[in-house]
Amino acid sequence: MTTNEPLWHGQAHMPTVARSRRVIARGDGVHVWDEDGHRVLDLPASLWYCAVGHGRGEIADAASAQLRTLAAYSNFQSYATRPALELAGVLADAAPMEQAKVFLTSGGSDAVDLSVKLARRYWSAVERPRKRTIVTRERSYHGLHGFGTSISGLDVYREGIDRLLPDAVRVPYDDWRAFERLLADGGSEHVAAFVCEPVIGSGGVLHAPDDYFANVRRLCDEHDVLFVADEVIAGFGRLGTLFASERFGLRPDILLFAKGVSSGYLPLGGVLVAGRVAAPFWDEDSTLVLRHGLTYQAHATACAAGLANLAIIEREGLVARARELETTLASVLRPLERHPLVEQVRVGEGLLAGVVVRDAATAGRVSDDAWERGLLARQIGDGDVLQVSPPLTISPEQLAEAAELLAASLDDVLATVPGAAA
Ligand code: PLP
Repeated sequence: MTTNEPLWHGQAHMPTVARSRRVIARGDGVHVWDEDGHRVLDLPASLWYCAVGHGRGEIADAASAQLRTLAAYSNFQSYATRPALELAGVLADAAPMEQAKVFLTSGGSDAVDLSVKLARRYWSAVERPRKRTIVTRERSYHGLHGFGTSISGLDVYREGIDRLLPDAVRVPYDDWRAFERLLADGGSEHVAAFVCEPVIGSGGVLHAPDDYFANVRRLCDEHDVLFVADEVIAGFGRLGTLFASERFGLRPDILLFAKGVSSGYLPLGGVLVAGRVAAPFWDEDSTLVLRHGLTYQAHATACAAGLANLAIIEREGLVARARELETTLASVLRPLERHPLVEQVRVGEGLLAGVVVRDAATAGRVSDDAWERGLLARQIGDGDVLQVSPPLTISPEQLAEAAELLAASLDDVLATVPGAAA
């Protein structure tokens, strides 16, 4: 344990971190080890992303080969690299939209910011410059760059920063009629895009009602609003389909992704844009340039890692596997709902779930106990939800083991609560 490390951790209370830093040293499959050799099952797959599991030599080899050939050459103006072209081709072919174009980024927040800029730029390009407002759902998370911070449905991210984007409006995450009312009350004129997570992740694993997305998509069509799916967590098999939109029968106008596209082996993300939205910039007679570009966009080595990762997902049938395992996941987690410290178990599509604990402090104690027992269980939501999003390679036995470890840790914590009995 070190107290004088200068590394500032993301979203962390640093005085606490200084007392309890955990240094992850290596990984293999669904497990990671700390520097002292303590092994834990990686229940959240790091930050939701390690779809193919840890320690895949194939991805390391692909990245290494690319690094030795040409580490990177910026994808700017007329220049591209072969891995970037190949990855864009694979993604466009699989995309749940017509004639998709692909803009590759270094991560999810980059992709969020580009999506929002593009939505506005599109409407000005088609002579509807009053369409500026971005609508998101309460409790949604869209990364922490400027636009993402502005449009998040979690107010905590704007604490001490205030409003960055004036035209950001939030609606409840589970009531499409609120969006309908907003559009009816003059919103139609001003709303550029509706941005949503197919299943809200960091906000606590929250599912929309069954008819929600079909109605939102319909409203977007009726009112000329771009439907933007933020699949940073949900994409690449997490929900049992390659793209989460497919699971809900959705055809987004813009779809953004990151995490699972490279399983986090290298920073990579991107935006898929339906042909009709790209058209003002791509048509033969267009005079427009999308004034957006990032030095590391479509980074050749990251793209090579992404291609190797997608090849594993396809070869090993991990998308179908996530779908098959969703019933196992539900059956091992559901019994936790009877535990006195558990408020709710949120399961649904694929390998994504949340275990809602009585409060954040209790969840923290469960998480600490689980670590000692050999399970890495991260807190999300308001700190009260334990994230379940394992690598898609996890076995049914390992899912059962994870649930048993969680149950044991819940019992350990309950035993310390005065007057409580299991
Ligand atoms: N969108 C969603 C839904 C996310 O969950 C995240 C990150 O967790 C992001 C965007 C931002 O991605 P990144 O952290 O790669 O910038």
